Order: sequence, then C-alpha cells, then structure tokens
Amino acid sequence: MQYTSTRDNKAVVSSAYAIAHGISVEGGLFVPETVPTLEKADFEALAKLDYVARAEYILKGFLTDFTDSEIAYCAEGAYLGNFDEDKPAPLKALDDKTNILELWHGPTCAFKDLALQILPYLLTTSAKKVADGKKTVILVATSGDTGKAALEGFCDVKDTEIMVFYPSDGVSPMQQLQMNTQKGENVYVCAIKGNFDDAQTGVKTIFTNDEIKALLKDNNMQFSSANSINWGRLAPQIIYYVSAYCDLLQKGEDYLKDGFNVCVPTGNFGNILAAYYAKAMGVPINKLICASNSNNVLTDFINTGVYDRNRSFYTTISPSMDILISSNLERMLYELTEKDDKKIALWQSELKENGKYTVDETVLAKLKELFWGGCCDEAKTQKTIKETFENYGYLIDTHTAVAVSVYEDYKKETSDARPVVIASTASPYKFAHSVLESLGIEVPADEFEAVDTLSDKTNTTPPAPLSVLKTAKVRFSNLCEKQDMSKVVLNRLGIK
Ligand SMILES: *Cc1c(COP(=O)(O)O)cnc(C)c1O
Repeated sequence: MQYTSTRDNKAVVSSAYAIAHGISVEGGLFVPETVPTLEKADFEALAKLDYVARAEYILKGFLTDFTDSEIAYCAEGAYLGNFDEDKPAPLKALDDKTNILELWHGPTCAFKDLALQILPYLLTTSAKKVADGKKTVILVATSGDTGKAALEGFCDVKDTEIMVFYPSDGVSPMQQLQMNTQKGENVYVCAIKGNFDDAQTGVKTIFTNDEIKALLKDNNMQFSSANSINWGRLAPQIIYYVSAYCDLLQKGEDYLKDGFNVCVPTGNFGNILAAYYAKAMGVPINKLICASNSNNVLTDFINTGVYDRNRSFYTTISPSMDILISSNLERMLYELTEKDDKKIALWQSELKENGKYTVDETVLAKLKELFWGGCCDEAKTQKTIKETFENYGYLIDTHTAVAVSVYEDYKKETSDARPVVIASTASPYKFAHSVLESLGIEVPADEFEAVDTLSDKTNTTPPAPLSVLKTAKVRFSNLCEKQDMSKVVLNRLGIK
C-alpha cells in the first residue's frame, strides 16, 4: 500500500518513507491511498486475541512494506511491559450503554502513550529502510501530553534526538513537571512564550525551511515529527477502536445490531480521525461525536462548514484541547473531497493567510453525515466530573468530562440510544487540581498534596508514574521567544 500527500497527489511514497519524514515536502500530510477492510469473521477472530496480536494484524494492513517480524518487534516492544496489566485500552462500562475506553494506563497516563510507545520502533525501523544511517531529529510541539509521551518513548533510542516545545502558560503543573524531569541523553525541553498553535506553527515552519533542512543534511541528520501529523502516530490509534469493537462483540449480536457511536474529546483531530479510519475499515461506528472545550472551532465547523480560527483563544482546564488549528482535519477533508489535493492546498493557504476557509455544500453534507459536533464550557466540565463521580462512583479527568458532557447533549438532541464508546484520554490524577475543584474539595497548593487529597477523598489510587515525580530532579527550565525556535534547535544540535 502506498501513501500520498493531501496537497500533492503526485507525491506517492511507502509507509516507511511517510513515517521517517513525517510530513510531505510541500507541507501536506501523508494518507493511505486505500483503507484495508475487514469482514465480520475477521473481527470475530481478532476478538479472541490479545492487544499485541490485534495491533500486529491492523498494522500489517497499513504498513505493507514492513515484514511480519518487524511489525511483531514494534508491537511487542511497545505494548508488552509498558501498560498496566499489559492491557493498553480496557473498556469499562458506566451503565448498560455507556462504555469508557480507558486510554491512560501507559507510562505518562494519557492516550498519547498508545501511539508514542510504538512510534520510536516504527520510526527507527522506517529510517533503516529509507534514511540510510541518518540521525533522526524529532521536533515536537505539545499542548502537554504529547511532549511527555514522546520524550518517554524516544528516551535514549539510538540515532535519535528529541526536542519538545510547549506553551509556557498552557500546560498543567503536573504536565510541566513530567517534561522538565525527563531523563535521557538525547532529550531537550523548552517552553515558548506563546500558545500551542504558535508552537505547532513554529515546528512546521522549521520542518519546511529548505535552508535548515540542508544544514541538517550536511550533518547527516533529518527531521521527523512525533505529532499526529505523522502517520506513525495515527495508525496505532486505529488499533484501539478496532480493539474496543472486538471487546464489545462479547456482549452479543443484539447489543450492536445498529452499530455504536464513538465520542472523542478533540483538539488536533488526530484521535477522532483514527476512529474514522476504524469505521472505514468496517467497524460498525454510527456517529463520530466530536467534543470540544471552549475552543470550539470544530463545533462551528461541523455545523456550518466555515473553519474560522479568528476568535478568542481560551486557556481551559482541559489544556490538551486548547487548539484552534486542528492539523488532522486536513486528512479528513482530503477524503471528503474525493482526494482533491488542489482544493486542500487552497483551503490550507487560506487558513494560513486569513485564518479561515469555507468548504462546499457537498463536503459539508458528508461531514454532517459522519460527525456530530458539540462543545462544553468550564462550568459544565466541572459539573460533569462531579456528577459522574456521584452517579457512578467513577472519576474522570477534565478532557474526558468534555466528552461525557457533549455525549449527553447528543443524546438529548437526537434521542439516539445506541451504545457508545467514549474515549477517556487522561488519568484524573494528571489534572488533580482541576478535578478536586470540580468535586468541591478544597485544593492544597502543592501538586502532590493535591494528588494525595484526591486519592483520600475518592478512594482511588494515583498512577505510579506520577507519584515518582515528587522526588524527581528538574533538568530543564528553558524559555524562548516563539520566533527563536529555529535558533534553539540548531544550537542544541551543534550546527552553525
Ligand atoms: C491530545 C489530547 C487530546 C486531544 O487529542 P487530539 O488527537 O489532538 O484531538 C484530548 N485529551 C487529552 C488528554 C490529550 O492529551
């Protein structure tokens, strides 16, 4: 199977090339030319297997230039020994119809681990195939969770360097501490004066700067991305939606007779796009419910067809979704326009120039057929955390709360009673401060006291990877202007 760029159909590459490079030369994103489909019997067979075997099966369909043993090496390396009980994506039932897909049992307690534990394996395997001996330099822009998950995944991986940029005022104290205490010789962390979109734009600009790319080449290095613009991030995310379906199959024929809905707390549109690909593979997903926080650019887009980032940017208690430029939407629009690369390039340049574009009626109609968009403000997020705990004795984080709230709105508006899978994207302990406040419990100033209080008051256990941070040494305290990111990168690499 080959991959092509959303902005240039003539760019046709292997999956190894797409993963090793991260982004196409003209700035487009790589997408598979076709999507492998599975039959009912395939899913039933997969239902009998564990997560690693499910992962291998799905990845084989998308990474056809990898050998079976390479895929096994990647999947086992990522999913054995790094997640609680070797179950990366367990499904918990809140009630008969509501299923929570817990995606935070990995080393950094957020769903990014599901992709970023395997990406280093995929990337180094890809680089061996297509980048003969060059050192891979991973640049990451993060709204909090990607950064730590990428640092953890790439820590001391041979022939890689990783540099993470995060918005100085846009991450939770726990997220910041997780990143700044990261171990490893090949890691670097820097805050920027700006928001996530500034960080993401800065990284994309560096990636596509010919002068910088040439400098790297002279030094036997090449850039790649660990953000969800890299196909190597998205492919592993498809696995857990297929896996969730396999788990639901145990509930019997009748339970899924009309399919099920999926609700995803969304920022960069990566996670929900993976659910779309799972649907395209044959998983009987009915609606993809796109849940946003107060930065509701996607809600408006799904409802009107106008993507307009010219609006206030809010710093919320669900910081990993504080995003106004959802990169992966580009992939979705490429599919919805029947692969119209010219149109995608045009819309993306309009977005860059004016911060805005409008899709045509046919695209909007298809978008609405697939998606339902809703949003949730801060007060409602807090209320949802409290009510979910009171009603079900189940503790959720701020991002998951946005999804739960939007799903309630969806049910009210549509009366759709199908079962739902709600993606739970982070451990509540990653946002202990906001969660305590939502529960109406006084919040201690110290982050770790907050963790202990949350544990005492809710009778739940904090994840071990967060507890060890209490005594971890802070290694990084860098801060730079957003326009200086390229200088910081070259300095760190010892170039120029
Ligand atoms: C990254 C993140 C999101 C948003 O996911 P996208 O793939 O960017 O849409 C939601 N919740 C948490 C906890 C995250 O870390």
